Amino acid sequence: MRWGCLKHFISTADTTRDEIQELVSWAKEHIDPFLRREQVHHDKRATLLFAEPSTRTRGSYELAAKLTGFEVDPVTGAEATSLMKEESLSATARMFARYHADILVIRTSLAGGARWVAEMLGRYGYHTAVHNAGDESNQHPSQAILDLLTLRQEFGRLENLTIGIVGDLKNSRTVHSLAWALRGFPGIRLVLVSSPEVALQPWYTEGLEVTVSDSLDALAGCNVVYVTRVQRERFANAYDYARVRGKFVVDATVLERLGPNVKIMHPQPIADGEVAPEIWSHPQVIMDQQAQLGVPARMMLLRRSLKYLPQPPEVEGVSPREEQVSDDHAAQTIARKHDASLRYIPLETGTVIDHLGGRAVPAIKACLGIQDHELDRHQVDVIGGLETRQLPSGCKCIIRLNGRFLTPAERAAIAFLAPTATFNEIRDGRRIKSKVRDPHMLRGAGQCPNPACVTRHDPEAALHPAFHGAGDGDQLVWCHYCEQRFPREQLFAN
Ligand code: ASP
Ligand code: ASP
Repeated sequence: MRWGCLKHFISTADTTRDEIQELVSWAKEHIDPFLRREQVHHDKRATLLFAEPSTRTRGSYELAAKLTGFEVDPVTGAEATSLMKEESLSATARMFARYHADILVIRTSLAGGARWVAEMLGRYGYHTAVHNAGDESNQHPSQAILDLLTLRQEFGRLENLTIGIVGDLKNSRTVHSLAWALRGFPGIRLVLVSSPEVALQPWYTEGLEVTVSDSLDALAGCNVVYVTRVQRERFANAYDYARVRGKFVVDATVLERLGPNVKIMHPQPIADGEVAPEIWSHPQVIMDQQAQLGVPARMMLLRRSLKYLPQPPEVEGVSPREEQVSDDHAAQTIARKHDASLRYIPLETGTVIDHLGGRAVPAIKACLGIQDHELDRHQVDVIGGLETRQLPSGCKCIIRLNGRFLTPAERAAIAFLAPTATFNEIRDGRRIKSKVRDPHMLRGAGQCPNPACVTRHDPEAALHPAFHGAGDGDQLVWCHYCEQRFPREQLFAN
């Protein structure tokens, strides 16, 4: 799994299809011990830190932990902790690690909170494993495992299924985790039914066969329909919530239209009658069986972490490598090369950032804290419209910093914003040209634009923002913690 997630269980985006398949098979093996109420004993402690409401996830994690032989400390509700006094998630989690939690199961209203805690505890030298039991609207990965286990029990397979997903697809973390987990299984077709305001963001279903609709009629032919509630707590105001609530109700008429073979799932709670009460006891509605399978699914996950507990956590991430491309004596090489369009004085001492696409320039200026008054004082020149064969557009910009040298962190950040950038440092008549290779991850710079991201709330997390780039050609980057995607330029927008 990517990002050292064998021990922690943070996001289904970390797993491959084979790993998911293996997890579901292991979970299946826990159904019998669960039904027999078999108990094992060891001296490990699981702390359940739930800062948002939960019935099933908390209840089933607690039972699963007891059945797996853990001593369990449930810490439920933000009001049960100093989170209510605005203590940070980092400080709260660290305390429980200090009290010898071997596994910390976290539910948090901060997107990316669980990943952040897992990494932070590793930095402090704790061996505590972290399970994400729901981080704001981002991920609920153990729910995806129990959802897949349910499909496997009902249909005997995880391939060749047409799965309708209905409701608030934008804010439902269970949908995000499920969509990532289904990736790579052959013959999976998703039929996504929602109001356009709460449609699923397209990156969750890249590579899957998808039909998008705003009508329940599109569900004809589905093997299973996975209904979700409109996530009221994620809406900025009552008006936005009122616009989308109650639009899709699966009731007796809909069920009849879908036929006798379809199964109806729901992660629960049902908040607004989106599965009508008249069919709750219908044999095709399997949401309680689904919730019950949360126990063996979580027993499996806890045992799996147990296996990896003695190992220190890995610190993930790709560090950019810097490479010196050339070193020459011609301080004015760059100037001469662009003779035809030379509109600036050759640089004596400082840095020329070359091979920039125009779109990255405002973000680079913001990242370097370059204000327009500096431009006026001729400390900085931004020169655009220069010809180049290095960029597909045939056109580049350069930024010339008079008397300024960049730190490695600044160079890494610029290369992340503009992967084609080359850096020319000019000192005493010598030019050293370098490039940052593999700038696929940026750490410690930029700000995630998602207001719910843990890096916007937890003061310690704010010091360690991290972003992944999807590739040179792709302008979208994604936050390592909250997993939201946005254009590169927004990293330094504030
Ligand atoms: N399945 C959800 C959970 O346990 C529903 C609930 O909390 O009631 O988190
Ligand atoms: N119980 C699920 C969750 O915690 C679904 C929901 O709350 O709607 O995400």
